[in-house]
Amino acid sequence: VDLSKSVKTKDSVFILPLGGLGEIGMNMMALIYKSRAVILDCGAMFPEMNGMGIDLVAPCTESLRELGVEVDGIVYTHAHEDHIGSGALLYQQLGSPDIYGTAFTLAMLEERMTGIRSFNKKKEHTIEPGKAFKVGAFKFHSLPVTHSIVDSVALKIETPQGIILHTGDFKIEDETYRGEGFNENEFAKLGSEGVDLLLSDSTNVESPGWTKSELDLGKDIKELIQSIDRGKLIVTLFSSNIPRIHSIVDAAKGSKRKLCLIGRSVTTNVGIARRLGFLDIDDSELIEMDEVDRLPPEEVLVICTGTQAEPRSALMRLSLETHSAFKLRAGDTVVFSSRQIPGNERRISGLMNNLHRIGCEVLTHRDAEVHVSGHARREELAKMMSLVNPKCFLPVHGEYRMLVRHHQLGKEQLPKAKHLLAENGDLLEFKSGHLEPIGKLEAGKQLFDENRYILEPELLRERKKLGFAGSVVVTAVIDSKRARLIEGPDVQIYGISENFDPVALEELLEDSLRIPKKKSRDLDSEYLEKEIRVHTRRFFKRHLGIKPIVFPVVYVI
Ligand SMILES: [Zn+2]
Repeated sequence: VDLSKSVKTKDSVFILPLGGLGEIGMNMMALIYKSRAVILDCGAMFPEMNGMGIDLVAPCTESLRELGVEVDGIVYTHAHEDHIGSGALLYQQLGSPDIYGTAFTLAMLEERMTGIRSFNKKKEHTIEPGKAFKVGAFKFHSLPVTHSIVDSVALKIETPQGIILHTGDFKIEDETYRGEGFNENEFAKLGSEGVDLLLSDSTNVESPGWTKSELDLGKDIKELIQSIDRGKLIVTLFSSNIPRIHSIVDAAKGSKRKLCLIGRSVTTNVGIARRLGFLDIDDSELIEMDEVDRLPPEEVLVICTGTQAEPRSALMRLSLETHSAFKLRAGDTVVFSSRQIPGNERRISGLMNNLHRIGCEVLTHRDAEVHVSGHARREELAKMMSLVNPKCFLPVHGEYRMLVRHHQLGKEQLPKAKHLLAENGDLLEFKSGHLEPIGKLEAGKQLFDENRYILEPELLRERKKLGFAGSVVVTAVIDSKRARLIEGPDVQIYGISENFDPVALEELLEDSLRIPKKKSRDLDSEYLEKEIRVHTRRFFKRHLGIKPIVFPVVYVI
């Protein structure tokens, strides 16, 4: 089947998940109609192992080019890294379209977008509550949802072939620190008007019951903070978690502690939240970093980054006693108001060892009520389904096993609905309110280094080889008239054990460079370099069990 032809000629809407259906992170989905698309979220994720210089992982957009699709806009549900993180990296690849998001989401994107020449403020559109907006053939309505960041929305999308509800990330909290919480009535109203397809967040489907609310957690945090009456108090958290920062600021207000914000992302995000009215902190409640040591320790509360023991984070530097502003001391308390992202456990454990060496008290979610998830658990997910009561259900945002669990939950909850499971790259046809998989496209990852350059697979293969087996440089000079080796072979090794006989290797290479008489006429360095490569690799394979990268350099004079 020629998928690009179907996409171009058929009157259907096509749904193409590009990221987040098969992993936690890099959420991205395209809705396509008559070869024009709108992209929902443009997220990134961090590499599992921080080796070989990979800094950030983003979805591959090749399939959109394959389909011949042009992008009219990117609509963001909220400002978490797994929803906006590749928005700047992929902006030009996506054809520099208009972008849509709530005020906080756009503010969080702003700094990243500033370096991009094809972007300007005119392409930015703020999503406002109750105000519909059109992107190509699609009409959007936003519905506020509660989540571990402010200004998150679900999206109702009116398409030429039916109505879609995309939940974004959410949990159901009746009330938040700002008053209004998750408005069940709004979702129930949508449900009664009729929703053809529900796309819902699967992140916490493996956990039973309801996720504890941020307000309830806030009470626990307040009690904890006010019970610690000696030493400095350091709270580390995800810097975008504005509701959590509010809880901590609120707890500080009821104590004699003054607040100090350290780390660039905390300072930036709190700045944005204050400017947009999401956080109410008076300047008089804040102290500068260099004031910390001038106050008695029991009058200091520090909010900082570093929950995942990121090497450059404030907490890491404090734990290594290399932070320029102040030092941690015995008797100080460090609270991890966070969870450990899988893959970071070793590093976090090392950080905690450092803190204990200093004599700090360390509290995590295992010791006290200091963290809750921002994602709906099973009963909340079931609630969302019963409110919206869609004709079709497709789980999104999660590793494959989570999608399967959510799919099963859907079948129990909505026995009459049609249930589908899809992964990144599955092309789904949405027609008259029905969803059908019709093909599979390339769905991969793009890997970026710290400077935001793409790391091609070939380059990574080479880096892997270099790292695993090391490299050998062999230099030789050949006299072309006499067809004889006149200098070398010189062997230099990098990253290779010296447990081999260098003389044996040189002799072997000399033999391989002995040029037969009949060959001498068309003597070329390429042939000789190939000989060196083959023999050197064979030698190291036999003696050390490795196949290093060999760089032969042959001068024929
Ligand atoms: Zn999120």
